[in-house]
Amino acid sequence: MAIFPMPPAGFDIAEKQNVSAEEKRRISLQRAQELKESIRDYLQVKDKIPTGLDLVEQLETARQKILSIFKAGKEQWTDWHWQMAHRITTVEQLSQIVDLTPEEQQSIARVGKRFRWAISPYYASLLAVDRPGGPIWLQAVPQEAELTDNGGSDDPMAEAFTNPAPAITRRYPDRLIINVTNQCAMYCRHCQRRRNIGEIDRHQPREVLMAALDYIRSNPEIRDVLITGGDALLLSDRCLDWLLSELDAIPHVEIKRIGTRAIVTMPQRITPALCAILEKHPPIYINTQFNHPLEITPEVKEACDRLVKAGVVLGNQAVLLKGVNNNPHVMKKLNQALLRIRVRPYYIFHAKEVRGTRHFITSVDEGIEIMEKLRGYTSGLAVPTYIINAPGGLGKTPVLPRYLVFRDDKHVIFRTWEKKIISYPNHR
Ligand SMILES: *Cc1c(COP(=O)(O)O)cnc(C)c1O
Repeated sequence: MAIFPMPPAGFDIAEKQNVSAEEKRRISLQRAQELKESIRDYLQVKDKIPTGLDLVEQLETARQKILSIFKAGKEQWTDWHWQMAHRITTVEQLSQIVDLTPEEQQSIARVGKRFRWAISPYYASLLAVDRPGGPIWLQAVPQEAELTDNGGSDDPMAEAFTNPAPAITRRYPDRLIINVTNQCAMYCRHCQRRRNIGEIDRHQPREVLMAALDYIRSNPEIRDVLITGGDALLLSDRCLDWLLSELDAIPHVEIKRIGTRAIVTMPQRITPALCAILEKHPPIYINTQFNHPLEITPEVKEACDRLVKAGVVLGNQAVLLKGVNNNPHVMKKLNQALLRIRVRPYYIFHAKEVRGTRHFITSVDEGIEIMEKLRGYTSGLAVPTYIINAPGGLGKTPVLPRYLVFRDDKHVIFRTWEKKIISYPNHR
């Protein structure tokens, strides 16, 4: 056990009360200068990490190009059914939109035989503001590494063993998941549930949802129901309205949550009609998954505005992904940009050991380093919780830099965000 020095006498600001006003101001100015210096590195790079809101013209050009390939117009673009029906699923289509080398084309075709892929025309338009191997590209376009990275399992979270009723995953005392569909607007290359992404898109049949509702009805300790998939917002408006009404009729269900990446991959799904339905069933919390600032575009901002106006509370669950966002500056920019569109950063997940996605995994050290560079350096609102999912379905576990360095029955010793060591009484 290391011995930590006790803070010197007079260290505490509280004991500096009898200094002159000028001296107080001088110390304050000196401290302010020190604080300015401490984010100099971020200020130097932050404008070099654009969001989609900074690239409106390039995005517009890409959209026009994709629309002309499909011989469609703006009306089709804003229709989410059109987006779904025109998802890019072949090398031929993709190579019309972005330049692909012959090797890339062969890789994509090879990976496609083993793992399904699909990109919404909207998300494909973001490829135009990225580069091969960049953060958008890695999430959307199949990589040879999916076939070559060894190990990992199909179901590291053992979801198949925490399934007490049809479509239900239960890992916690008072809340559970209903898995309503295997469908998504885009099949993310880092998907942790790729075992569920078959060749066939299917929503759960009504009987399965009714059985899941029966389970919730007969377990009164369940107060929080998370509707997810796949992408829960790929259900029809009518089906969502029905499911939310059924949940509202269960007295012990206090809150409903929806898990969706459609806000990011196909913001056209957030129609006024959908928002009118969501507004009827408060309280609703939606968690989505932004992983990079480029994903924050004007269309996304408009979708978030609509949801917030419908009374929905928005949160973000990023995944820490090598090559996408394993960089403290990128993560800081992402979380700050999310707050501007009223999405509260909630979790950063450490990537799981899922077969075909292991090339995305970072060290846990990298995650801790990112948390270290967020806390204190930026708004507490921009600091999510870093989570490792314990294997075997044992649950989400927060992982933090080590702030509490010692504790006994007399005192605690902790270190601040700037790594200053402080001793503090542990009163009984
Ligand atoms: C993630 C998850 C939840 C929600 O967890 P919170 O920490 O409350 O956001 C609930 N049930 C299951 C099975 C989950 O995987």
